[in-house]
Amino acid sequence: MTSPATQTKLLIATRNDGKIREIRDLFTGLPFELRFPAEQFLERLPDEADLERGTSFAENAVAKARYFAKRATIPTLSEDSGLEVDALDGAPGVFSARWAAMHAAGAGDAANNALLLQRLEGVPDEQRTARYRCVVAYLETPLAKPQLVEATCEGRILSAPRGSGGFGYDPLFLSTDLGMTFAEAPLPAKQRVSHRGRAIRALVEVLVRRSK
Ligand code: IMP
Repeated sequence: MTSPATQTKLLIATRNDGKIREIRDLFTGLPFELRFPAEQFLERLPDEADLERGTSFAENAVAKARYFAKRATIPTLSEDSGLEVDALDGAPGVFSARWAAMHAAGAGDAANNALLLQRLEGVPDEQRTARYRCVVAYLETPLAKPQLVEATCEGRILSAPRGSGGFGYDPLFLSTDLGMTFAEAPLPAKQRVSHRGRAIRALVEVLVRRSK
C-alpha cells in the first residue's frame, strides 16, 4: 500500500445500497479513494450470482473480494454479513439476504422480515436473542492472501418493527448497546456499535498501520 498521505484506491465489492451508504460513511476522512463496482464500469455478470454460495461468511467474503479484485485490478474490500438468531439455531446466517426467497416466501427485506416474525411467533422475549455478524476481506492484489476481520453485535428480535432507517432486518433488531432498533438509531450510533462498523474500523487500523 502507498503512504496514507496519498489516497489509496479501494474497490468496495458490493452492490447493496444499504451497505454502500454505511461503508462510504465509515471511510469519511480516511486516506482511501473508494470505488464501487458501477463507478469502475463493472457491470453485473451472471456469475456474480454464484459468489455467495459458501457455507461461512469468511468463504463468501473472500470469494467476492477475489472476483471483484480480478475484474478491477485495484485493492479490494468485500464484506459478508448476516443475522444469527439463537432460537433458530443461527438462521438465517449466511442466507440472510435471500432467506425468504429460499423458502418461496417472497424476496427482499420485507419478505425476510415477515418470515422472521413468523418463525419466532410464540417465542418469549428472553429467547429472542440474536446477533449480526460481519466478515470483511481485503485483497491488495487479486491473488494475495486475504486479510480477514470479523465482528459481531448483540441484540434481540422484536415482535413488531420499529423505525424507518437502516436496511435489511434493522427494524426488528433491538441493539443491546443502544436500547433501540438499528432502524430507529441515527446512522452514527449504528456505526459506532454495529458489526460492520466494528469490522471495518479494525481493518482500516491494520491497513494504516501496515502502510507506515
Ligand atoms: P450479503 O452479505 O450481501 O450476503 O447480505 C447480507 C444480508 O444480511 C443483508 O441483505 C441483510 O439481509 C442482512 N444484514 C447484514 N447486515 C445488516 C445490517 O446492518 N442491517 C440489516 N440487515 C443486515
